[in-house]
Formats: sequence, C-alpha cells, structure tokens
Amino acid sequence: MFEVSVDYSFAAGHALRGYKGKCENVHGHNYRVRVTLAGENLDASGLLVDFADLRAAIQDVAQRLDHRYLNDLAPFDSLNPSAENLAKYFFDEIQGRIGNRGVRVEEVTVWETELTSATYRPNAR
Ligand SMILES: [Zn+2]
Repeated sequence: MFEVSVDYSFAAGHALRGYKGKCENVHGHNYRVRVTLAGENLDASGLLVDFADLRAAIQDVAQRLDHRYLNDLAPFDSLNPSAENLAKYFFDEIQGRIGNRGVRVEEVTVWETELTSATYRPNAR
C-alpha cells in the first residue's frame, strides 16, 4: 500500500460548548491539517495521487473555515468544533472530492497547537 500526505494550515476561532475550562471561551488557533490518502496502485507517472490535486481538495474545504468563527458554520453550529470533529469533517469532505480512483482517505490529523492534535481514522490498521 502507498500513502501520500499533504499538510495545510488555516486560522479560525472557536469556543467549545459544555467544556469547563479555558476552551469554553472564544479563542483562535492556527490549525494544521494533514490529509493522508492510501491506495494500492500507482498511475503511469508513478504517482498515487498528484500532491497538487490533494492540496487543492484540502484548500477547497479549508477556505470555507479560514478566518471564520467555526461555531457559526454548519455543522459546527450544532456539532462542537473540537479538533476531533474537525478531523472527521475534513475526512468526509475530502473523501467526497477525491472520488474513488482506487484511492481512499486513510486518516486526517488536525493540530490545534504544535503540541496537540487529534486524528480520525475509521479503518482499523
Ligand atoms: Zn481551541
């Protein structure tokens, strides 16, 4: 199996509902997102997927969130905008944009800070 990853960063504000602590207050993060695609077969150029295509798909999703208050945007107007839920959101959105082509989204990691991240990986390894 081959895996290809692209990192992307964006800035956004959020507040965690029902959380007792500093993160219940409005604050912002410079988020980093890493999307990893996986597949068995390479194309004639020896690529699993073009980095540029994956980057464009991530950018397409991230642009909707960039410099916004996440709690105002669906699905985060009802779903808490935690790093975990953001990772699943990117996973589902990218999966829809990548199509199949024998390539699947394997996992998505979202960093809120350099030291803290959450990963969504639905397929057991
Ligand atoms: Zn936060």
